Amino acid sequence: MSIRYKVILPFLLLTLVVAAIGVYVVTRLVSSSLSERLKNQLIEAGRVVSDTFARQEIQHVENARLIAFTAGVAESILAGDSESLDRLARPVASAKGIENVVIIDENGQDQLHLLLQSDGLFQEINTPTGFGGVDMVQALLLGNPDNTLPRRAFGVNPMDERYYYYTAVVVPLDGKVVGVVMVGTSIDTLLPALKSTSLADVILYVETGQPVASTLAGQVNNQAELASLSLSLDSYLEIRASSEVVHGETLEFGGRTYSIARGPLAIGNDRLGVFGVALPADFAVEAGSTTRDNYVLLFTAVMLVVVLLGYQISRLIINPLMSLLRASQAIAGGDLDQRTGIQARDEIGQLASTFDEMTERLQERTNELEKTYKVLEQMDRTKVSFIEVAAHELRTPLTLVKGYTQMLAMKFKDEPEMMALTQGILDGSDRMQEIVGSMLDVSRIDSKLLKILPEDTNLGVVLARVFKSFREALQERNLTLGMQGVDGLPIIQADPDQLYKVFYHLVINAVKYTPDGGRITVHGHLVETGDGQNEVEFVVSDTGIGIDPAHHELIFEKFYQTGEVYMHSSGKTKFKGGGPGLGLAIARGIVEAHQGRIWVESPGHDETNFPGSKFFVRIPAKVKADEQRQQSEA
Ligand code: ADP
Repeated sequence: MSIRYKVILPFLLLTLVVAAIGVYVVTRLVSSSLSERLKNQLIEAGRVVSDTFARQEIQHVENARLIAFTAGVAESILAGDSESLDRLARPVASAKGIENVVIIDENGQDQLHLLLQSDGLFQEINTPTGFGGVDMVQALLLGNPDNTLPRRAFGVNPMDERYYYYTAVVVPLDGKVVGVVMVGTSIDTLLPALKSTSLADVILYVETGQPVASTLAGQVNNQAELASLSLSLDSYLEIRASSEVVHGETLEFGGRTYSIARGPLAIGNDRLGVFGVALPADFAVEAGSTTRDNYVLLFTAVMLVVVLLGYQISRLIINPLMSLLRASQAIAGGDLDQRTGIQARDEIGQLASTFDEMTERLQERTNELEKTYKVLEQMDRTKVSFIEVAAHELRTPLTLVKGYTQMLAMKFKDEPEMMALTQGILDGSDRMQEIVGSMLDVSRIDSKLLKILPEDTNLGVVLARVFKSFREALQERNLTLGMQGVDGLPIIQADPDQLYKVFYHLVINAVKYTPDGGRITVHGHLVETGDGQNEVEFVVSDTGIGIDPAHHELIFEKFYQTGEVYMHSSGKTKFKGGGPGLGLAIARGIVEAHQGRIWVESPGHDETNFPGSKFFVRIPAKVKADEQRQQSEA
């Protein structure tokens, strides 16, 4: 993942989490405060309903007493004079706005029944109400005239079959109860008043859990609708007996959700029923969701801003890193002129300027190295041309020395002492000729003038020639030289004279650096390279002093020798015999001219345990084109 996303993504995730928590908390706060408000409002509405009933009761008691204590009322009840009762009670009823007045005599018989009509006039009803038999009236008739308290109850007026809230007081005369005055207000009048004072819809439950009336949705007394508001009898009785308003219930009515609170309708000592107050809960839910929507919008906007800001900040951080990356890649690719170009003072700026300084120094060093390399190259060229000149210049006098010595040898062939001396001169000249030959080989390799003349080469024959040159030395030094696998090798296209030199130098080294009695083996085999080509591999192993791994590369450089030169013994094939340090350089030059490879493997230099060395030579096994065809056809 790119560093840009590594910076932005956690930032984005964090913002998302914070925003989600924010929206959740705010919405919860708002909705819980809204439901708290709803609850308080419901409780308040319940209190207002109770208070309104209490005020209605006071009104009723006042009005009922006004009629009961009007002069002549008690006497008229006693006398059973309905007419005069009507005359006395009617003006009070109409003055006080009473809806329903029922006066009952001590026998429980109706004496007067006035019912307010829709035209505002009272109608006297003669149909018996039967109220004389109800508990409330019976209790008053049997009570003490002086201290009997008013009673109240809900009842249905048989005339219009509507529910009325009645309050009844006794009519005393001479220490006796002569009758009862009942004053009633229709529930249809009461409920709208309750609604307008409590600011909530009101439901009334009387006697059972069935509501008798409700202002809900304007459907007052619609039985089917009312049924949906009913309470179980148990909860009705429980609420009626309780002392507080119970809230928390919601119900669906007329397509709206209401939150409902219910409380006992208690006046004086009487528990008349249960009232319910209902407020639409939609506003709380809607307000909650509107608030949530608003906050979601707000947080989304804030988040967008934060993300944009984050992106800009990440750019500020990442862009310098990117330039640093680009510069370092360019420098790694060799363009040392590249600089980051970052000027900031922060840590990245410091990193960039350190990096630029490093590049500056690297460039300086590289320039110095290039110069030194050129000087060294020049020196090497001088050295090579010196070798070349020296070798050429030495060749002629050497030939002369050799020629004259041979002539001397001819002349003194019968004098053994002289023969020994001339033979010594001849051996030295041969050795010098060999060294001059090596010098010429090296200078040809260095000046890329080495010519490879490929021909059919039997590597076994080449090796046999090499072995032959060392026969005497091997005997002298008691060394064994073995050859393995060479016979099975194919005839390849190579320069046999040059390959002779390669094996000559490898074998002479093995002879020189292996102690007397040691063993030298040349092992040859064919190896397959990955691309389907074959290579001939030779391994020249010895049981000699070995080579430290630090020198494994360097020994292939010309004039490179491990150990001290003066420690070398003088003989060409003696143990640790000296040499000019050219053998391996020539071997490498020739092998590479054949597109091959040469390398050494040895655990290290040890002149006590003689770990030995293995020199590997690999040359592509090139065969003639027609042979190749034959091979592939076969
Ligand atoms: P030299 O003329 O000194 O043999 P070479 O180029 O042939 O020069 O070898 C370079 C050096 O590599 C030698 O001086 C010797 O230290 C080391 N070397 C070469 N062949 C062997 C070997 N078979 N065992 C141990 N050391 C070797």
